[in-house]
Amino acid sequence: MKNLQGKNALITGASSGIGQAIAIRLAQEGCNIAISYRKSPDSAKHTEAIACQKAAETGQAAVKTLLVQGDVSAEADIIRIVNTVTETFGGLDILINNAGIQSEFASHEIPTDEFDRVIAVNLRGAYLCAREMIKRLLAQQRTGVIINVSSVHEVIPRPAYLSYSISKGGMGNLTKTLALEYANRGIRVNAIAPGATATPINEAWTDDPAKRAVVESHIPMGRAGTPEEMAAAAAFLASDDAAYITGQTLYIDGGLTLYADFREAWSA
Ligand code: NAD
Repeated sequence: MKNLQGKNALITGASSGIGQAIAIRLAQEGCNIAISYRKSPDSAKHTEAIACQKAAETGQAAVKTLLVQGDVSAEADIIRIVNTVTETFGGLDILINNAGIQSEFASHEIPTDEFDRVIAVNLRGAYLCAREMIKRLLAQQRTGVIINVSSVHEVIPRPAYLSYSISKGGMGNLTKTLALEYANRGIRVNAIAPGATATPINEAWTDDPAKRAVVESHIPMGRAGTPEEMAAAAAFLASDDAAYITGQTLYIDGGLTLYADFREAWSA
């Protein structure tokens, strides 16, 4: 993809799932990657090892990697992460706001701290990472790209996951507002919105064939997505192939947002 080689990327939540796949894909495209993780240095090292191996296989053996621990719900951690990456790589070109969690409660029973926890990671964390990056880009008169990992629940309501739905709906507006505010400063802001994707966040159904079949029966294309399919879209939006795209959410969902109930003409 165009002009990714030599760019410096920070991916939050990169030790598993979609974040891991994005880190690997960006390394394959020649980006230096900062693998931000919250808990498991071993998982982050695993991401690093695969990324280095795959980058070498695609002729990008020179990519640099950095592991940086931190909790995106903690402002001090975010400032430290962005500072560390900027100083180590000499600048930050691409931010992937991927870290995310979900929590299941009937909406009338969500404990306040649980509600706050999801918003703090998924939405406030994404905003604070973007804020810290944009500050530095403006100070250095540098251009940059932000990609928020949203969800089909940016637009599809998700009962019993209210805080998650709100966080992703908010992420859609975060994407558009930042895109508009900084479009004339060379900063592009977009989102990818995965549908049902086989990753650890979905372990309740990914490894159970019966439950997985139920999930996949709701998807027009008849299957869950892969982390690599999400990563391909993120790499495209990060590259100069998407140089004129900003403020958009790209749904990568096998048709999940197409109102599948209308496949048959029940309304006629
Ligand atoms: P995942 O659980 O593998 O990844 C989430 C990552 O976020 C993990 O690496 C985790 O350590 C990290 N994380 C959680 N809390 C953190 C914190 N406080 N600070 C830093 N990192 C933290 O699941 P995934 O499916 O790869 O999820 C990645 C993103 O994709 C999430 O934002 C999720 O909402 C979004 N998404 C996933 C799906 C899906 O079906 N898998 C669908 C739509 C959107």
